[in-house]
Amino acid sequence: MAGSAPVGVLALQGDFREHVAVLRGLGADVLTVRRPEEVAAIGGLVIPGGESSVMDKLSRSFGVADAVRAGIRDGLPVYGTCAGLIMLADRILDGIRDQQSFGGLDVAVRRNAFGAQTESFEADLEVPVLGDPPMHAVFIRAPVVAELGPAATPLAALDDGTVVAVEQGNLLGTSFHPEMTADYRFHQYFLAKVAARSAGR
Ligand code: GLN
Repeated sequence: MAGSAPVGVLALQGDFREHVAVLRGLGADVLTVRRPEEVAAIGGLVIPGGESSVMDKLSRSFGVADAVRAGIRDGLPVYGTCAGLIMLADRILDGIRDQQSFGGLDVAVRRNAFGAQTESFEADLEVPVLGDPPMHAVFIRAPVVAELGPAATPLAALDDGTVVAVEQGNLLGTSFHPEMTADYRFHQYFLAKVAARSAGR
């Protein structure tokens, strides 16, 4: 993507280094993002897994939260994994007191939805927008999409119907961690959104 803006990875907390490595491996020019000026310089943003309540507090104290919100409103492609999905949800269930998100996805996401018993597990998911084969997905203290608003489209669900991947325009969210497997089709799907938007500008 010579000449186009770099792809940002929100690097306040969590497994941002893994996303940087995946995106670089896919040929993207990557910028770690901690400050509002950096949001202005990117063509897309990945929000990593980690702890959403901490990411929320840090993003507000670093002054980057409002810049990300403005980017989302302006159509910036953003991909959130796990805690990143929570940060993209318009509504958080089981958040800590006063926990805020950036919002943008017309969904309610429930934090730590699988509880302590099965807080980590793996599953093979059919993801029609990615085609075959099914995606091997790693869930770690994962959230789920508990309520799906009319503006959001489910992309994948567990066998019991629980939605674990969602898309809405330029926004993409997964409950699981594709950066931890060798299957980077969600990152490629996101990079295609980034390329399409920069081609249209
Ligand atoms: N449970 C974490 C949270 O609430 C998310 C876990 C993860 O990102 N792996 O933010």
